[in-house]
Amino acid sequence: MNAMNNADKAILVVSAHAADFVWRAGGAIALYAERGYKVRILCLSYGERGESERLWKQAGMTLERVKESRRAESQKAADILGAEIRFFDSGDYPLTPSEQTIHEMVTEFRIHQPQFVLTHSAADPYNPDHPEASQFTLRARVYAQAAGYESEGKKLGAPPVFMFEPHQPEQCGFKPEVLLDISSVFERKRKAMESMEAQEHLWQYYTDLALRRGTQAVRNSGRKEIKYAEAFQRVYPQVTGELT
Ligand SMILES: [Zn+2]
Repeated sequence: MNAMNNADKAILVVSAHAADFVWRAGGAIALYAERGYKVRILCLSYGERGESERLWKQAGMTLERVKESRRAESQKAADILGAEIRFFDSGDYPLTPSEQTIHEMVTEFRIHQPQFVLTHSAADPYNPDHPEASQFTLRARVYAQAAGYESEGKKLGAPPVFMFEPHQPEQCGFKPEVLLDISSVFERKRKAMESMEAQEHLWQYYTDLALRRGTQAVRNSGRKEIKYAEAFQRVYPQVTGELT
């Protein structure tokens, strides 16, 4: 695929916390960045209270220092994956995006006109910020489609929304409807995961998951060359002229 042909295309990834996009969609992000798309990550919070366990073990740690550290890690991961990242600092536990943040998200949709959107699953009993981010993304997308909503950019079409695989998919009602082959970019995803030093316990976990989803991708396609995959679930129906 010629990356130059995609230079005017974009995708949006909405991540509740600083590292979510890395574990759950790092492969998709790297893949589309390599194909020449502008990949924009909208990171709603640093996960400073809920997802920074290791940093809080250090003596004299403060909320501001945790945020700085998570921001630096997250920026590094986005750089490795080839994506742009914007931080909103909307807090975590609870995630509380302001009306202004919603408006800015609508503007992101309208200016970048994403080909598709990636975000969290609709339910997650382990982390209320994740479904909050998911709902918030769908709201911004719907507002961006509304002719009467005033903002910069032009009215949004109907980009599909894919939900990332949550940490414990069964409890979140997550069903893998799409398996994306990320074999060609897996090393890049692994490097991005390793830049998340506060969550080292997850590096191997998400490597194993990618292998398992890769095995399932082979089983469901017969394409034996697939080694690593990421799973997604659709929010809206797929529209197609071909049943393949
Ligand atoms: Zn999270």
